[in-house]
Amino acid sequence: MDTNIPVTSQPRIVIVGCGFGGLRLAKDLADAPVQVVIIDRNNYHNFQPLLYQVATGALEADSIAYPIRKIFAGQENLFYRMADVQRVDTAHNTLETNIGSIRYDHLVLATGSLTNFFGIESIEKNAMQIKSVPNALNLRSYLFQNFETAILTEDPAERQALLNVVIVGGGPTGVEIAGSLAEMRNDVLPKDYPELDLQQMQIFIVEADGEVLGPMSKEAQVKSRAYLEDLGVQLRLSRKVQRYEEGKAYISDTEFIPTRCLIWAAGVNGSALEGLAPEVVTRNRRISVNHWNRVEGRKNVYAIGDVANMVSDDMPRGYPMLAPVAIQQAEQLARNFKRLLRGDAPLDFKYTNKGSMAIVGRNRAVVDLPGNHTFGGFFGWLTWLFVHLMTLVGFRNKAVTLISWAISYFSTDKALRLIIRPYKRSDFKDDKGKARAEHNAQTPQYTPSVPTPSAPVVGG
Ligand SMILES: Cc1cc2nc3c(=O)[nH]c(=O)nc-3n(C[C@H](O)[C@H](O)[C@H](O)COP(=O)(O)OP(=O)(O)OC[C@H]3O[C@@H](n4cnc5c(N)ncnc54)[C@H](O)[C@@H]3O)c2cc1C
Repeated sequence: MDTNIPVTSQPRIVIVGCGFGGLRLAKDLADAPVQVVIIDRNNYHNFQPLLYQVATGALEADSIAYPIRKIFAGQENLFYRMADVQRVDTAHNTLETNIGSIRYDHLVLATGSLTNFFGIESIEKNAMQIKSVPNALNLRSYLFQNFETAILTEDPAERQALLNVVIVGGGPTGVEIAGSLAEMRNDVLPKDYPELDLQQMQIFIVEADGEVLGPMSKEAQVKSRAYLEDLGVQLRLSRKVQRYEEGKAYISDTEFIPTRCLIWAAGVNGSALEGLAPEVVTRNRRISVNHWNRVEGRKNVYAIGDVANMVSDDMPRGYPMLAPVAIQQAEQLARNFKRLLRGDAPLDFKYTNKGSMAIVGRNRAVVDLPGNHTFGGFFGWLTWLFVHLMTLVGFRNKAVTLISWAISYFSTDKALRLIIRPYKRSDFKDDKGKARAEHNAQTPQYTPSVPTPSAPVVGG
C-alpha cells in the first residue's frame, strides 16, 4: 500500500502522535519551509485530563476529542495519515506502519504513554483503565451495567461487589474519578435506582504512598484528603492492590475489598516504538533524549512529551509526564528546527512550571502555584474549570463543555448515563464460548482495506 504523500524538495519532518506535544509542534511548524507529516492511529486529538468526566457521565466524548483533519485545515505544508506505527528503521530513515512505509528526513516521536500494570497479570486482565476515549466509554457503560445487575442479584455479597468501586492510585486521575463517582453516588444514583440502597455503595482509593496527590504540596494533599473524606470516599493509604481475581481486590494475602469494578490509575510507561537501540529506551519505556529532545546517538530522531526522558539537575529522574511539559518541549523543538534550517545552533530546553491542580468535586479543588502558593475551595474549583476550558481544542468543545458544566452545577446532575455499547469483560465468554480480550488492548489498530490501484503514485 502507498501512503500518497507528495514528494517535495523540502525536508520532511514526520511526527508520530497528535497528542499535546505532536499537535503543538505541527502547528508551530506551519510557517517553516518543511513538509510536515503527522501520523496518529486515531483521527482525533484526545484531551486526556477530562477523560474521567466522560467515564462518569459529566461530558460527552465528542467534547474532549477533536478531529485532526479539522485542526490542520488550511495548513498547506501538513499531511495527516491515520496509521498505526509499528516500527522505526533508523538505518533507512523509514517508519513501518499498517498503511505502508513512510520515509522521513527528521522524525519526532510524540507517542505518549501506556498504562503500566507492573506485570500483574490478574489486574491487566480484569481492571478498567482510563487512558483513551474508548476506555472512558467502556468504564461508563460498565458502571451502569453493574448497577443494573445489582438490582437483579439475590446474593447480598455479590450485590455489594457490584456496587463497590476500587480506584488504585491516589494521583490526580484517581482523586478526580473518586470525587466524581462519590458525587454521582450521593446526588444522581439514588434518583435513578430507588430499588438499590446506595448507602451500601463504597468508593475506595488504594494508594501506595501515605498521602493522595503525592507530587503536590502538603497543604494541597491535606485539603484534598479532607474533600474526599467529606464526600464519603474511603482511603486506604500506604496500601497496594496486589492482585484482582473473582471480584476481589487483594490488599494483602488475606485481606480484600469485594468489587466488580477496579479502576487502575496507578502508573504509566512511555510508549517507545520498536526498532530503537535498546540503550536509549529506559526501564519505564521512555526514550533518552538530550536537552534539544534529540534521541541519544541519533542525528535526526527526536522524542517529546511523555515518551521522552530528559534529565536535568533539578529533574534527575526526568521531567514529569504532564501536558505542559509536552507542549513546552514541542514549542522549543519547533524553534530549534527553524534555527537549524537557518544554520544556527539549537538552544537547550528550559521548563517553566506554571503550577499544578486537581479537582475533587463541586467547589472543591486544589491549586499549587509556583512560589509555594496553594489555594482551594470555590476559587480553586473555578481556576481548574477555567484552565481546562481554555486548553480544550475548538470553539464547539469549549462551548458544549461550558454549558454541560453549568447545567451540572445548577442541577447537581450528570446527564450521560446511557449504556450505548455494552462493555464485555475479557473474562466473559461469548455465545460460542470464545473469551473476549478486546477491552485491555492498549493499541487498537485501524486496518484499512487495501485500495484498488487508481491514481498515479506521487510519493510516500
Ligand atoms: C486520565 C488522565 C488525566 C490526566 N490529567 C492531566 C492533568 O490534569 N494535567 C496534566 O498536565 N496532564 C495530565 N495527564 C497527562 C497528559 O495527558 C500527558 O502528559 C500528555 O497527554 C502527554 O502528551 P504527549 O503529546 O506526550 O502524548 P499524548 O497526548 O498521550 O499523545 C500521544 C498520541 O500518540 C498516538 N500514538 C501513540 N502510539 C502510536 C503509534 N504507534 N502509532 C500511531 N499513533 C500513536 C496516540 O494515539 C496519541 O494521540 C493526564 C493523563 C491521563 C491519562
